[in-house]
Amino acid sequence: MTRSRPDCIFCKIVRGEAPSHRVCEDERTIVFMDIFPVTDGHTLVVTKDHFENVFEADEDTLAAVARTSHRVAAAIRSELAPDGLMVFQLNGRAAGQTVFHYHMHLMPRASGEPLALASRVPGVPERLVEIASRLALALAE
Ligand code: AMP
Ligand code: ZN
Repeated sequence: MTRSRPDCIFCKIVRGEAPSHRVCEDERTIVFMDIFPVTDGHTLVVTKDHFENVFEADEDTLAAVARTSHRVAAAIRSELAPDGLMVFQLNGRAAGQTVFHYHMHLMPRASGEPLALASRVPGVPERLVEIASRLALALAE
């Protein structure tokens, strides 16, 4: 990738230097499970290039994230059948951003589930593996 930061956790995942429960990738984006899932199936669509936020990223990259998010949203719906799906991204500490590398959250929701944007409880690894592989299979169809 042309834009990569040595110490950024998402750049490390893109470079294959840090582990992830990967769902899929294409030229501009990579998709993996959030390791602190707020809800079951919480997935991240991440740019391969390092852009800190929406202000830094170029339009083509943002369009690529939108395309990937649309495809992954369909896979989440077919595999997990949630009551709803939150699609959002945060820019700046004041907005709650904690990883300063552009990414979109896809967060399935059950009716009545409390609204939260972040969690400090790690996901169950077996469940993250299972969902990642089910989404990967659905996307390959
Ligand atoms: P944000 O608050 O929008 O910056 O979201 C960052 C998200 O990245 C949080 O939901 C974290 O749980 C998640 N996260 C942090 N480190 C990792 C990692 N190594 N692999 C997967 N997800 C991560
Ligand atoms: Zn990065």
